Amino acid sequence: MKPIRTGIVGLGKIAKDQHVPAIRANPAFVLAATASPHDQLPGVAGFSNVETMLQALPELDAVAICTPPLARHDAARSALAQGKHVLLEKPPCSSIVRLEHLSRLATASGRTLYATWHSQYAPAVEPLELLLRDRRVREIRIIWKEDATYWHPGQSWLREPGGFGVFDAGINALSILTRVLPESIFARAARLCVPANWSVPSAAQLEFETEHGVPISAALDFCHPGTPIWQITFVTDRGPILLADGGATLTLDNQPLAGTGASLVGEYAAIYRRFERLIARGECDADARPLKCVADALLVAEHIAVPPVDL
Ligand code: NAP
Repeated sequence: MKPIRTGIVGLGKIAKDQHVPAIRANPAFVLAATASPHDQLPGVAGFSNVETMLQALPELDAVAICTPPLARHDAARSALAQGKHVLLEKPPCSSIVRLEHLSRLATASGRTLYATWHSQYAPAVEPLELLLRDRRVREIRIIWKEDATYWHPGQSWLREPGGFGVFDAGINALSILTRVLPESIFARAARLCVPANWSVPSAAQLEFETEHGVPISAALDFCHPGTPIWQITFVTDRGPILLADGGATLTLDNQPLAGTGASLVGEYAAIYRRFERLIARGECDADARPLKCVADALLVAEHIAVPPVDL
């Protein structure tokens, strides 16, 4: 098969750190172009926006949209209208209706739409899913805290409307939760801390419950100094299970589970393998469940004003 000629839209941190190497390492793809306002890669056709790229290179097969979330719907819509397959970074859109709209466009045009959730490919997530099949979960506790000034330096869009604030990171935990819990998750309450110079929360305390009444709490913080904490504890009828390090490690009854403990390297290789399979089969994967958890939490939220925070 001919390689899938792919253009990256939004050549920022995640595109350079993960998408470019993952595309270059997978012979099913070729990196044909980039579209980004202020940057390009040596030896790769570079354009300042998606429309110019699509017009100049009609032979492109696919685009990977790695912009901030607010710009994604327009870019994906243009690409689908021109018959391209589309991969979306997470969170896939700035609203659920926009994602549903893209799904309809993709289905109507017979193209693949793939809303990626990279944390679902963390190495300990599949083993966790298997373990949970044989256990009754009684309670779930998420702690997802990091220092945004370290992990997202200069990315002021994160604190602007549509930037998701702390949910930009917290949605990774929710994407793991929705992958391992097939049942409905209801938002019960949310306390959101919104700094005076932000439009969106920098920290959140969330309460959900599953349709079977299992309580879920989530403590999210984007201003947590030092070592990040990215963990989910599942209290089960056969002891606690701890998913830690963003999904890299799994601890069962306080013992590390053999085979986990790897780094998160490999998430994006898995994403591009899945994108290739979806394209080959003519399928879409546009799972909105993590985004729905965030949207529902916002609907029941209490907002608390806190002092300004630099980002
Ligand atoms: P970033 O470094 O700010 O990169 C975003 C890029 O998109 C910038 O190069 C920006 O260009 C470009 N851009 C903005 N609007 C555009 C448009 N309309 N058309 C084309 N390009 C546009 O942000 P990031 O960290 O890469 O994050 C991007 C997305 O990836 C976010 O949704 C984030 O949640 C997700 N993600 C990030 C990480 C991470 O570790 N950083 C990990 C996983 C997922 P200019 O800056 O030149 O304007």
